[in-house]
Amino acid sequence: MKIILAKSAGFCWGVTRAIKKARELSSHNSSVYTDGPLIHNEQMISQLDSEKITATNDPASIEESPLLIRAHGIPPERRTMLNDLNITIADATCPDVAKIQGLIRKHVRQGCIIIIYGDKGHAEVVGLEGYAEEKSFIVATPEDVNKIPISDKRVCLVSQSTQLPLSYGKIIDAVNARFPNAIILDTICESTKNRQQELLDIAEDVDAIVVVGGLHSANTVRLLELAATVKPTFHIQTADQLKRDDFKEFEAVGLTAGASTPDFIIEKVQERLSSF
Ligand code: SF4
Repeated sequence: MKIILAKSAGFCWGVTRAIKKARELSSHNSSVYTDGPLIHNEQMISQLDSEKITATNDPASIEESPLLIRAHGIPPERRTMLNDLNITIADATCPDVAKIQGLIRKHVRQGCIIIIYGDKGHAEVVGLEGYAEEKSFIVATPEDVNKIPISDKRVCLVSQSTQLPLSYGKIIDAVNARFPNAIILDTICESTKNRQQELLDIAEDVDAIVVVGGLHSANTVRLLELAATVKPTFHIQTADQLKRDDFKEFEAVGLTAGASTPDFIIEKVQERLSSF
């Protein structure tokens, strides 16, 4: 069976940067804490645990160890709370996320109401909401847009960085229809767009697609949704979840992975698929 591995599979630059920062801190400290799980991948979290890089939900209990803010970013109120704790704080907010936060802040200051297209409760979206200063609506569908009260204030639409452009397009249409003078911002990150486009390109030459990634990884979920629109799709977190029988009728399989999937898992999946 032929395997086509996506070049974009695995860590995006924001995740690579966050892990590098955590390891740099770890080389100068006996332990490093992260403000919540650094990334949404159980195997990588275990690996980081073994390097004494650990998630905490209780930053107030940290004494000398530094606390790293993860790539998803945090709301401004949380940043203020952490600063007040008088602990050492390092920031690994992805610059692509920080850019969305800055755009929201700018448009709130100009008097806009913010609509965020994203997964309610996801860490990045919680952070973005914080920058909207309670003047925001989170939407997941065009129907959600149609429930937003009409107001004389101008509306500004942003997307969580890891959404599907095709789905965002439907939200944009709904916002434009309901709020004709809305400001529409393209805030899906380039890394996400490239990964999704490469998946579609590979899909043309394969019979099925394997997507590797954590259950709570938003961009992995989007890859799955996209892959399922074009080819039979299999979601796994580790190589041992692959079943030989599932692949016996395929001559070529595409392999991609979410932005928080480490190379060591992708390599094992590739090896196992090649053995079928
Ligand atoms: S998916 Fe995009 S926004 Fe999120 S961490 Fe990676 S590069 Fe940054």
